[in-house]
Amino acid sequence: MSERIYLLPKEGNVYKANLHCHTIHSDGHLSPEEVKAAYREQGYQIVAITDHRHYQWHRQLCDQNFLALAAMEVDINEHFKRPGDFSRVKTYHINLYDALPEQFIEEKQGDLLPERRYNDTDYINEYIRKMKEYGFYACYNHPYWSLQNYDDYKNLRGFWGMEIYNYGCEHDGLYGFNPQSYDELLRQGNRLFCVATDDNHNQFPFGDPLCDSFGGFVMVKAECLSYEAVTRALLGGNFYSSMGPEIYNMSIKDGVLEIETSPVEKIYVMTSGRSCHKKVVSPGRELTQMSFPLNGTEEYIRVQIRDGQGRYACSNAYEMRGIVPVLREYDMTENG
Ligand SMILES: [Zn+2]
Ligand SMILES: [Zn+2]
Repeated sequence: MSERIYLLPKEGNVYKANLHCHTIHSDGHLSPEEVKAAYREQGYQIVAITDHRHYQWHRQLCDQNFLALAAMEVDINEHFKRPGDFSRVKTYHINLYDALPEQFIEEKQGDLLPERRYNDTDYINEYIRKMKEYGFYACYNHPYWSLQNYDDYKNLRGFWGMEIYNYGCEHDGLYGFNPQSYDELLRQGNRLFCVATDDNHNQFPFGDPLCDSFGGFVMVKAECLSYEAVTRALLGGNFYSSMGPEIYNMSIKDGVLEIETSPVEKIYVMTSGRSCHKKVVSPGRELTQMSFPLNGTEEYIRVQIRDGQGRYACSNAYEMRGIVPVLREYDMTENG
């Protein structure tokens, strides 16, 4: 008998986070204080303010019930095909989250932005590596909105994660949900985490069907709500992504994967190949837990559930050595 391995830590508290958010410091419509008030009211404890090309730690927002992560969103645009027409320009959008907001303070007030070298993936990977020296870990954002395909992202290296869901892009009509890109990266060995985010700009008021807040979030399991503990949890992959449904537990014992969720219609376990483990019930019926015997050929597993309203939740991917999961942390060292 082997020990039970918990894919999400057994101990700790669960915190709700929006890791992609714009304010009046770029093209968002709310102040950081208004963002905090609105997200607090909806049960969030963590927001990363990721204004375009604008790094700032909104430290004044932090209190015992709320944590603001220091971050920014940078971009690398392709050269314009037609002058002034951004609508057909491919672009890399990258969120940089700061693990060390109290270090390199002077450097971080300088120019941290990447050069516009779209077709130079080596340059982009080197930029990500350099930003890591300052404490930043990078997320590859919304590939479809960026008009990007496999060729644009297959050679990216050193990223901490990618957006599997972006609620704002969903409203833009550009497929907020990116599970295919995530599997494509995983299948070629790029073991990154995945996040669901709002990317809220709040052009439309709360309650409007086009309001881009509260649709994509991450549930982080951490010891407490300190900057350090939450950063450790994010770097450790101790979280899952959701549009609504919840994953309460995922664990493996003796080659059996056990999953507990809020009521859903589908529980899928995606693998590196074509065969998934799955349990589905008819519309209107409910599943809240499932056990799947693993067969040792999965290579990686990631849990993906869907509720009756069509909303998904996704775990991170876990690399498998046979039927034993490898719990990997993101490596913040230079060459990791
Ligand atoms: Zn973006
Ligand atoms: Zn954004």
